[in-house]
Amino acid sequence: MLLSSYTLLGLIIGSFLNVCIYRIPLRKSIVFPRSSCTRCGTQIPFYDNIPVLSWILLRGKCRFCKTPISFQYPFVELLTGAAFLVCGLQWNFAPPTYVNTLFLSVTIILIFTDFHHRILPNVLTLPGTLAGILLSPFQDPTVYMDGLSVRIAGLFEYQTAQTVLPWAGSISGAAIGGGILLVVGLGYQKLRKRQGLGMGDIKMMAMVGAFLGWRLTFFTIFTGSCLGLLAGIYLIVFHKQNLQAKLPFGVFLGIGSALALFYGLPFLTWYLPS
Ligand SMILES: [Zn+2]
Repeated sequence: MLLSSYTLLGLIIGSFLNVCIYRIPLRKSIVFPRSSCTRCGTQIPFYDNIPVLSWILLRGKCRFCKTPISFQYPFVELLTGAAFLVCGLQWNFAPPTYVNTLFLSVTIILIFTDFHHRILPNVLTLPGTLAGILLSPFQDPTVYMDGLSVRIAGLFEYQTAQTVLPWAGSISGAAIGGGILLVVGLGYQKLRKRQGLGMGDIKMMAMVGAFLGWRLTFFTIFTGSCLGLLAGIYLIVFHKQNLQAKLPFGVFLGIGSALALFYGLPFLTWYLPS
């Protein structure tokens, strides 16, 4: 019962995330006015604003002018519903359920604003980083480390501290996440004389680090880079794009961070057995 209500809430919040994705890059208020059709301007009545269902009933078209409504609207609603569902399942409505639901919701907005506009808005990444730090005592403590031992060929062994205060885990995660991308970005700029990473990517990774700690931040950057590389190869081979095409790196980092949240620790414990 709780799980289905929470998933339903996710679908409704997804509808709100659609508003954020559309309006934040345009610097419009996300509260006011009520949603209207982007083509004919007619205000959308409440009965046409039911997540997913309305889009299906209207067959993806505005009731008044019949302009097609992007599949992105129900897709974001379903994605958000799924995010709520898996957070409920994973942490069984203990505090980390809510912390990570918030994290994934902000990440969903970032993925789509970056995809459409190559923008990762400061109004999301900066308060997001702060929220990650402030909420760290309520986050799943395993994300911030704890007694991970690293062994290389049986020669070198390094045992990390058993318990790091969540604040320390979160703040160091933010510093490392933002720091790595800053260093890589500056290095790239020096070598290639053009900007490879935006400040938005750097701030987004500071947020990821604040929520997920440094280990999952590494996992996110690694996975995001692999996904970006695959997408780049795909575009070059099938769409005749050149190497200079600017990919929305935030999209891949966002997907990478979601994978890190659910698969990162099992992967790291398998890859670095203690
Ligand atoms: Zn219309």
